[in-house]
Amino acid sequence: DDKILEVLHLKKHFTVGKGQVLQAVNDVTFNVKRGETFGLVGESGCGKSTIGRTILGLYDKTDGDVLYDGRNVHDLNEKDRFQFYRRMQMIFQDPYASLNPRSTVKEVISEPMEIHNIYRDKKEQLNRVYQLLEEVGLNRDHANRYPHEFSGGQRQRIGIARALALEPDFIIADEPISALDVSVQAQVVNLLKALQIQKGLTFLFIAHDLSMVKQISDRIGVMYLGHLVELTESTTLYDDPLHPYTKALLSAIPIPDPDIEEARERIILKGELPSPINPPSGCVFRTRCPMAMEICSKTKPAWQEVTQDHYVACHLYDETVENKEPVKSLIR
Ligand code: SF4
Ligand code: MG
Repeated sequence: DDKILEVLHLKKHFTVGKGQVLQAVNDVTFNVKRGETFGLVGESGCGKSTIGRTILGLYDKTDGDVLYDGRNVHDLNEKDRFQFYRRMQMIFQDPYASLNPRSTVKEVISEPMEIHNIYRDKKEQLNRVYQLLEEVGLNRDHANRYPHEFSGGQRQRIGIARALALEPDFIIADEPISALDVSVQAQVVNLLKALQIQKGLTFLFIAHDLSMVKQISDRIGVMYLGHLVELTESTTLYDDPLHPYTKALLSAIPIPDPDIEEARERIILKGELPSPINPPSGCVFRTRCPMAMEICSKTKPAWQEVTQDHYVACHLYDETVENKEPVKSLIR
């Protein structure tokens, strides 16, 4: 089977004050194939990090299933869960926040190996730390220094070395480049790509915009307010986006060539992102969708495979919907 991860109808709701329910993730289904990079994209608050954490079992699920190599990660006993964490690791957005400032680089990278008791011989463990530093483009002289002595890009390299320490198969990268300068972003992306090829890694790459994701992802899922709204191969998503939200996200990417910039229409979304505590009826995007129709406020659009491997949740692509006149009053 080429699917390493299957997320099936995953739902994650949080109870917040006064019995209100925050619907962070709603009925999300996708799979990740062995060796690919799957990009998960959406504005902050759309539920993408919650999906990452629920996949890892850091959050309990509300409903649905997460299967890793065919096994339900939320049903693992303590011992199997411990082993599961060797195979799946996470990289975070802010490398500084995720690294203990009082630990040396050596301590940060060897911690997972100590927890999992990989080496009895400390010398062997240290050699492994040196090796990992070199694999991420740093060197052994960095081992006794502290994270704060490094630049943002270097700290992210330390975070990557730590994530690789247990030789995982799968890495969830939660906005690993969002806090970095654009020039450094490309370097970290190139490093991740090189490591993927060397080690046969599978990535779930979480990001809030589409600009860098295209370069690293084989397939991309677009999320809005806890829902997956479109999913297809990266090139198809760029060349032939279907969902009005995807079109708006794509139109926001600056194009370096001024001639092309002129030709591309910028779609500015009006209105605020609604609260996941009180989401709109029908299609969750309809309060900001320039194409919203009468049916959009009444019925949730189904998740449909419109062409092969191209999924979208939008009534515009539903042949059974007859009246597709836009209704302006649905937009707040
Ligand atoms: Fe817009 Fe309606 Fe499609 Fe939702 S279902 S994205 S509101 S056209
Ligand atoms: Mg996040």
